[in-house]
Amino acid sequence: MQHLPIIDGHNDTLLHLYLHERGGGRSFFEQSDSGEIDLPRARIGGMGAGFFAIFVPEESGMRPPSADDVILTDDGYTVPFAAPIDFNYARATTIAMMAKLFRLEAESAGQLKVVRDIAELTGAIHDGVLAAILHIEGAEAIDPDLDTLEVFYQAGVRSLGLVWSRPNGFGEGVPYRYPRTPDTGPGLSDAGFRLVAACNRLGIMLDLSHLNEQGFWDVTKISNAPLVATHSNAHGICPVTRNLTDRQLDAIKESDGMVGVAFDVTMLRPDGWLEPDTPLGVIVDHIDYLVERLGIDRVGFGSDFDGASIPTELKDVTGLPKLIAVLRDRGYDEPALRKLTSENWIRVLRQAWHDG
Ligand SMILES: [Zn+2]
Repeated sequence: MQHLPIIDGHNDTLLHLYLHERGGGRSFFEQSDSGEIDLPRARIGGMGAGFFAIFVPEESGMRPPSADDVILTDDGYTVPFAAPIDFNYARATTIAMMAKLFRLEAESAGQLKVVRDIAELTGAIHDGVLAAILHIEGAEAIDPDLDTLEVFYQAGVRSLGLVWSRPNGFGEGVPYRYPRTPDTGPGLSDAGFRLVAACNRLGIMLDLSHLNEQGFWDVTKISNAPLVATHSNAHGICPVTRNLTDRQLDAIKESDGMVGVAFDVTMLRPDGWLEPDTPLGVIVDHIDYLVERLGIDRVGFGSDFDGASIPTELKDVTGLPKLIAVLRDRGYDEPALRKLTSENWIRVLRQAWHDG
């Protein structure tokens, strides 16, 4: 079967590589059973480009939140708010992870490229070079005067989430709760509004995944860019705080933005349960729902590989052709598949980056 080049809206591969480095780790250039993306497996899966996230894990223990943090409630679960992250620690960690990506690019002998505009993105995909879009997930490393933002932009950052699922100086993310709406707290701070305006000016795509609902509406008040959630699903199917309500989806449609569907089973399954034995059809259920609500031009993939519990059947990035086969079975023709796998991301990035 011929591969479609896939642009994927979110991965935490840099975090996975960074956290596992001390224990010997794995090489990004060798096919491994550890983690979910490396260069050989990206090729097998048909991944042409991805948003490579920089996520700063909490200082104590250097770990991302895990299933151990979950507290069961009568009707679901709640995960306590992660503690705020110190700016100096966040900045140092962000620079270290960025440096990691740039070193990988240098070591790759032209097989991995950090892309900064549409010509570089489409050129890399065309040439079979894995394209990395540098994304920051949560703006803890950015100072209120936004000096670091200017420097990060020059370094290559082209996508930014104002928050991860914790509070910072710009706004508040959603804590993980099920079944609950994303309306969990206050909206953006004054610095948050300034950050949105600066991203609009620079041409950094704003990612609304992890932002609470009040913050989402605050962004809609001032942003002139398409509204984008790189890795979120339909609240109408799985009512977890991380997913988007129908009203939010309507606003995304109106702005001509898009949603990248996340493969995290806790954000896919109607019961919200952490059960990796989840059929790929559930991913397609979300895609169907989102396409119905947003149109075929406003939905893509946002896997969260290396940062989530994904369906066992998918296994890792090599499983993408299986998902595409299920989409074909469910009636998506080749033009629709091209939109879902790459064309929609290119259109939205072109607008967000003021590129043509
Ligand atoms: Zn995330």
